Amino acid sequence: MVKACVCRYCGKVFTSWKERTCCNECVKIEEEEFERIENYLKRYPNSNAIQIAEGLDISPFEIVRFIDEGRLFVKKGEFKSIGGGKK
Ligand SMILES: [Zn+2]
Repeated sequence: MVKACVCRYCGKVFTSWKERTCCNECVKIEEEEFERIENYLKRYPNSNAIQIAEGLDISPFEIVRFIDEGRLFVKKGEFKSIGGGKK
């Protein structure tokens, strides 16, 4: 089954055989973002997702997504209490 996906960078709708959040044109952006996170972790190895997001000025959701994809191995930190916690 081909799935309809929406690119989270440019908002384009595209189809893919597997669930993806990034179109072919924006893969480079994603790779650059991932590299920035990796470099940040080399400098600050004990950072959690929130600290990385703040340090790089990106959304913590981006980092958690990489963690969920198994590409990053860092603590999610207090992300849960900020994102889906009780009000
Ligand atoms: Zn795109």
